[in-house]
Amino acid sequence: MSAEEASPLRSASRVAPEDRLAIGISFGNSNSSIAYTFDDRVEVIANEDGDRQIPTVLSYVDGEEYYGQQAKNFLVRNPKNTVAYFKDLLGRDFAAIDPTYCHASAHPQEANGAVAFTIIDKAGEPVSGDSDETKPADPSTVPVHDIATRYLRRLVGSASDYLGRKVTSAVISVPSNFVDAQRQAIVKAADAANLEILQLISDPAAIAAAYTARIDAEANSSDTAGADQQKDKVLLVLDLGGTRSDATVLISSAGMATVLAAVHDYEFVGAALDKVLIDHFAKEFAKKNKGVDPRENARSLAKLRLEAEATKKALSLGTNASFSVESLADGIDFTSTINRVRYETLARPVFEGINRLAAEAVKKAGLDPLEIDVVLLSGGSAHTPRIAVNMSTLFGEHASVVAPSTVPSATNPSELQARGAALQANLVRDFDAEEIEQSAHSAVSTVQHTSLAVGVIATPLSVGADGETEVFTPIILAESAVPVRRAILLAGPKEGGDVLLRFAEGSTHVHTIAPPKKEAKTEADDNSDDEDDSDFDSDDDDEEEQRKKGWKVQGLLAEAALRGVKAGAKIEVAISIRADMAVSFTAREVGGKAAVRGSF
Ligand code: ATP
Ligand code: MG
Repeated sequence: MSAEEASPLRSASRVAPEDRLAIGISFGNSNSSIAYTFDDRVEVIANEDGDRQIPTVLSYVDGEEYYGQQAKNFLVRNPKNTVAYFKDLLGRDFAAIDPTYCHASAHPQEANGAVAFTIIDKAGEPVSGDSDETKPADPSTVPVHDIATRYLRRLVGSASDYLGRKVTSAVISVPSNFVDAQRQAIVKAADAANLEILQLISDPAAIAAAYTARIDAEANSSDTAGADQQKDKVLLVLDLGGTRSDATVLISSAGMATVLAAVHDYEFVGAALDKVLIDHFAKEFAKKNKGVDPRENARSLAKLRLEAEATKKALSLGTNASFSVESLADGIDFTSTINRVRYETLARPVFEGINRLAAEAVKKAGLDPLEIDVVLLSGGSAHTPRIAVNMSTLFGEHASVVAPSTVPSATNPSELQARGAALQANLVRDFDAEEIEQSAHSAVSTVQHTSLAVGVIATPLSVGADGETEVFTPIILAESAVPVRRAILLAGPKEGGDVLLRFAEGSTHVHTIAPPKKEAKTEADDNSDDEDDSDFDSDDDDEEEQRKKGWKVQGLLAEAALRGVKAGAKIEVAISIRADMAVSFTAREVGGKAAVRGSF
């Protein structure tokens, strides 16, 4: 690592590109994951305990720090010195936080308006020289950003151990509604852990990136590359975690994603599914044991909670699961079973809430459910078969629902976010300090974005550009964070010859055409979150209705001619936009001599 000094904000964590080892991190309120992009694959790294979903929990026992699943297990015996669900408290005023999820662990407190925890994180002192007795150490008040620093240090430590080299840098994915202060707090916490943040990307963008990378890889290996990859796809990303559920509609095109709408929910979440089982088994226990309710005792409740989650996970795989806790309450052991049908009946209100969330996002995007191409389930709760079934019912006839229970080969939904972050880390790790400064800045303040898509209109010169139907192929999508570079492949002219490339800005539209009515009029799409496509006939029930995504050219930027392209050859066109928004392009015949470059 170079000892470069830099701006006060991230001084400790500026690393020269050649010294960088960059990973992707998904930093959840419930679980985190770390991933690395090797030359040919992305791998989600297991920590020392063998976990790839690492609970976002720290626990202190006799001055020893535990993290992940080991720390989570201490919620039963050492809740006061165990810190959980802290990530969503970062960058918030004490008065603004919802401490609900911290009831069963160290409680957040106010320290100068900020959030802190009072925990005993040091070893006790011997009472006297010749006695085995120790007196507990004094409690420390640890601000939440310190907790985050300690946790990130552990994550990075696990990644470094695995990779055999010190991890210096990371891309972290964060919820798309995280505000500046929250983003800043994460960067600051990482800084203190000596971790350079290359970029913060949004959770749905990371999820979509991991998904499209996989689809592209499959298309390449099955030789259907090109046209199909470049088709726009409307994705509904449902990210279902432990304490939040997010539904995001985005258009994915040539590897870039543009968000149309996002909705967030904190009620219909994984923890609510746990509660269904906690209540069910607590009642059963009470019935069998003279009304003793294990929820009334903190330790019993902690045991119930851990076992309920395990049972819930077992029900994602099997149709029956057991529930068993030693000494649940009053020293009484408890064993029971439940089947999936019963569970799904009990949990129906939660599942219905998730259905509504999905429908709401589509509505907010101004789309008809028919217009969704892919429903991509992500997050731990996405393993739940019932949720995938419900999505198939809502969208399934026209959309593919991607979840473990519907597509057995689907990427593990618990890993999508970290994989996407790792892909992004791989993409930006070679950026120099200035570009990183720009992109790190953009990640923590106003994001520097392209406002419109930038793409190309390619026409064979032989036919003359004028008479041809113009096809705008987007290369860099609207609202891409800069700096950015993208390349695409185009089919060259069948007979070969010269090709005119006109670079332009364009905007997209997704709309429904219901024949035999004439085509709906195309208007510029400003890609805003809550756009309302009221101009369009979306209430048409016609079975023949088609979905069409069109591009409209908003302005020509530059022209170039690629000379003497061989018959049937492919043309690679690449555009890069620098942090200062300067645009340059290259175009070349794949495997041939023709090439042209320029800037505008
Ligand atoms: P959040 O930030 O919303 O708290 P997260 O993003 O940190 O969550 P995830 O790992 O995506 O965490 O989701 C955690 C939730 O997923 C927990 O409620 C957990 O019980 C649940 N979960 C994990 N695996 C499964 C499974 N196999 N079946 C059902 N639920 C699961
Ligand atoms: Mg999450």
